[in-house]
Amino acid sequence: MSLPKKELFDIPADVIYLDGNSLGPLPKGASTRAGEVIEKEWGRELIRAWNTADWIALPKRVGDRIARLIGAPEGSVATGDTLSIKVYQALAAAFKMRPERRVILSDRGNFPTDLYMAQGLMSTVDKGYELRTPAPEDVMDHISEDVAAVMLTHVDYRSGRLHDMKEVTERAHAVGAVMIWDLAHSAGAVPLDLSGSKAEFAVGCTYKYLNGGPGAPAFIYARPDLIESVEPALAGWMGHEAPFAMEPDYRPAMSTERLRVGTPPVVQLSILDAALDAWNDVDMSDIRKASLDLSECFIAEVERRCPVLKLASPREGELRGSQVSFAFEHGYAAMQALIDRGVIGDFRAPDIMRFGFTPLYLDEEDVIAAAKILEKVIAGELWRDPKYQTKSRVT
Ligand SMILES: *Cc1c(COP(=O)(O)O)cnc(C)c1O
Repeated sequence: MSLPKKELFDIPADVIYLDGNSLGPLPKGASTRAGEVIEKEWGRELIRAWNTADWIALPKRVGDRIARLIGAPEGSVATGDTLSIKVYQALAAAFKMRPERRVILSDRGNFPTDLYMAQGLMSTVDKGYELRTPAPEDVMDHISEDVAAVMLTHVDYRSGRLHDMKEVTERAHAVGAVMIWDLAHSAGAVPLDLSGSKAEFAVGCTYKYLNGGPGAPAFIYARPDLIESVEPALAGWMGHEAPFAMEPDYRPAMSTERLRVGTPPVVQLSILDAALDAWNDVDMSDIRKASLDLSECFIAEVERRCPVLKLASPREGELRGSQVSFAFEHGYAAMQALIDRGVIGDFRAPDIMRFGFTPLYLDEEDVIAAAKILEKVIAGELWRDPKYQTKSRVT
């Protein structure tokens, strides 16, 4: 295999795309597949396509392809819904597994929706649960005997800092807690050994490094030895053992399928299925090596060219996911000025300029070109232009 594989993606020629950590670009095969699904399958086959095009098995097929990328066995990953929903399902299942405990441990750097879903679930069950969010670097010290579930995002969305999956999971298990990993910024970014970690649950989304497109379905993993005892809080008919038996009572599927909820988003899943073709002959360790090379190159270039930007990610590659963040007081305006010049990254409040490195479609030449344009924006203070000061709803 050789990287990058730019020919597989449809990226505008005048753009250097450093935001594949937030929304992956369009894989060429995805448009073709979407056209086929819409016109041939939906258009001509109509409802027959559930069987003739095997739409019904699509969530599992796609789940198996994701499993390979996250170090999980076939049959252990279910797809559908959004990541927020999958966080809720994993947490609710963990509550049932540790009924005598009342603490969820996360960290202050976690993505807001993960914390919000925990808060919503806690108030719904109304049994005096408590959500603890120490600083990310202090999490290990807070994994105590009263914790029901440790729920962490493996790669911090803001700083790119990486938790040690194996070490944290072992600590959680040593005190009898259930471990839930959010792999939103890990799947397709770093090599993962989910099975080896022995974590009970993992969740993630597919529109970031996996390039499944805006609103692409999420995934959830449950450790295979547990699945028959997991109690689904969202007991939808697609997670039933026999959905078309139309039984009045819920009977969970005897497989990971019990973590499905309702009708799968067939068009979006098909797009994701096609997007995953780009990973067919990819070894995650090659991706990791290339991603570290690109990131190191970017850090060196930016620190040399733009000394006012302060590195807000761990300097040591081993402690970082596949993104690099810089803090800058005028980061929002600077990012707008940069985007205006064809280099697309994004901004996260309060002052973080964030850049993702995706070796499937980026090479060193792109990274150096991006750093040169950033230098123009910063050294020339081009961000002072009033048109860059008004914040859009999405940053
Ligand atoms: C991107 C991201 C989400 C987004 O959740 P959605 O339900 O897909 O909107 C949630 N959690 C983390 C950690 C993320 O990085």
